[in-house]
Amino acid sequence: MPLLELQGVQRLFDETSGIRDVNLRVNRGDFLAIVGPSGAGKSTLLNIIGLLDRPDSGSYRLNGVDIAHASERERDRYRSRNFGFVFQSSFALGDENCRRNAELGLKIQGVALPDRSGIVESTLNWFGLGDRSLLLARDLSGGEKQRLGIARAVATRPEILLADEPTGNLDSHNTQIVLDSLDALNDQGVTLIIVTHDDEVSARAKRVIRVIDGQLSESPSPRRDPSEHATVPSDEHTPLSAIVPSRSVRLETWIGRIFDRIDDVTTSLTHRMMRSTLLTLAFALGVGGLVAAVGVSQTTSEQVTQRLSVAALDEVRVTPAGGGALLKPDNPQLDQWANRIKELPGVQNVGFTATIGASSAQVRRFSPTDPEPNANLLVSSVSSEYLRLQGVTQLPSAISLLDATAATDIAFLGKNIAKALDVSVGDGSQTIWVLGRRLTVVGIISGAPGRIEGLHNTVFVSRNVLAGEEKLDVSLVVRTEFGFPAAVAEAIPLRLDPVQPARFTTETVADLRNLRFGVTSDLGILLAALAGIVLIITAIGASTTMMLSVQSRKSEIAFRRAVGQSRFGVSSLFLLEGVIIGALGGAFGAAFGVMTILGLSLSRGWEPTLTPVLPPIAILIGVITGLASAALPAWRASRAEPAAAIRG
Ligand code: ADP
Repeated sequence: MPLLELQGVQRLFDETSGIRDVNLRVNRGDFLAIVGPSGAGKSTLLNIIGLLDRPDSGSYRLNGVDIAHASERERDRYRSRNFGFVFQSSFALGDENCRRNAELGLKIQGVALPDRSGIVESTLNWFGLGDRSLLLARDLSGGEKQRLGIARAVATRPEILLADEPTGNLDSHNTQIVLDSLDALNDQGVTLIIVTHDDEVSARAKRVIRVIDGQLSESPSPRRDPSEHATVPSDEHTPLSAIVPSRSVRLETWIGRIFDRIDDVTTSLTHRMMRSTLLTLAFALGVGGLVAAVGVSQTTSEQVTQRLSVAALDEVRVTPAGGGALLKPDNPQLDQWANRIKELPGVQNVGFTATIGASSAQVRRFSPTDPEPNANLLVSSVSSEYLRLQGVTQLPSAISLLDATAATDIAFLGKNIAKALDVSVGDGSQTIWVLGRRLTVVGIISGAPGRIEGLHNTVFVSRNVLAGEEKLDVSLVVRTEFGFPAAVAEAIPLRLDPVQPARFTTETVADLRNLRFGVTSDLGILLAALAGIVLIITAIGASTTMMLSVQSRKSEIAFRRAVGQSRFGVSSLFLLEGVIIGALGGAFGAAFGVMTILGLSLSRGWEPTLTPVLPPIAILIGVITGLASAALPAWRASRAEPAAAIRG
């Protein structure tokens, strides 16, 4: 039975180029030189024989099995098991050392690491490259590189060695060495099929096949006596079979295979350090943004709810219908209502507050026509009780002057506004102008603000001052015992007006809290959406970069495919790269995000809210985005046609 047999094989690219009606039998131990003018179809034939390309028609038997219609997967396997390839460009992974280059075919076959190491070492020795094993392939001389190519092809102990112009780029000395190696291999039973223009090669072949215009003819071999030739370069007495054991090698476990894959990818990543770092950074920023957005919105939301929940447990606000338009701050009715509310069980204190914004308040220092003070201030009429129940400390002893309904024309200033107005003492010796009235400053409030935000920017005026204002927010603030607000809120309207309770709106801060919580979670969603967009941009950028890297590694990928790595094997290199970079980016991003949250909280004096699941989720998001951005490049890589890429 012939080792391989082609019958009526045709592969046409157009009407004139390609091969047609090819019949060829090759026996075990043959040494074929395929010669002919350029463009005649020699490489096309070699590609068909080596399963890098499929014939349009005809049959192809390998060891008696028709493999013309074998599946992609089976062809990968045959390529990896039965064939060794030596390419003209002495293709090698330039960034990797000789060991790793020579190991590649064995790795793709799934040979276990210890066996692999042994085979690689002895094969490199056999080809006189033993002392080069740790040198990067790109640093080898042309002859050494070609020997490395043959060593790699032979390490898998193929039945058939296919070579395309193996001496094409070599000087005569190196040509001799390479030819001697080929001769020696043939002597040991390896079948050789070599495309060549070199008469030296065809002189050594046992058969010479001429291809002209896509058709084959066999001419008698000019083979001279082999003893004329120099012998094997090194280890000439060691038969190859002794150093490259036959198929009794152990196969890698699946864990070993995964480690091999990771090893391949980390080598590729570390060889392109700049690119890997930038990619990782991009993912770190993307994921970090997301983590920070989530964390910051959690922290703020927590902060707001914490503050509000304290208030919510003991506060009710009562707003009479009509507000300031109907109800003036100096109306004694307010005090009567306050007293009636105070009688309800669970109520501790009741104060009232009426506030207008700075724009309508017209606060001046020396005359109603002064320029306005440059401060974000508020003007309020409040009862002294209100200040107390809001937890303001160090109130001036004169504070109860605020409770008089008579026209007293006095003011208390928060310490910031006092400074802005250049009022230094609150002893009644200085005056300010509010709403065209001259008010005596009878105190400066400098204690802790309790629950009153902006206390120190507020001018507290006697009740008559705001009486003429339309746009007033008037409300009674009720401090209850803990847990009472809901009940008190319900009881108040009836208590104040049994006939028309609807005149009063009551609100516990719990209602407000829901509102505010809603707002902050909306904000969180918004932030997360923004960060999500950043992450998508990151992924697109990363995908582009990986796509470029597929482009630049085109010949490597094709080479891997030619040596028998499956489509999945090739794409997994890129997917895994995406996963590793994504995971790293996710981890850095988590750290970066957490630092942002801590930094922000620290600067605002908040307690940071950190969820322990955030870092693992960040890494997971990194992995998913990494995988997503690698998907298209990986797919592209897997589509690479081995034959096409060798040519390119
Ligand atoms: P040789 O190896 O003898 O120089 P080839 O086998 O490479 O010749 O090419 C034979 C002819 O087929 C040439 O005209 C070449 O341009 C053409 N050819 C080879 N591969 C392809 C391809 N993938 N697509 C189109 N034309 C091709």
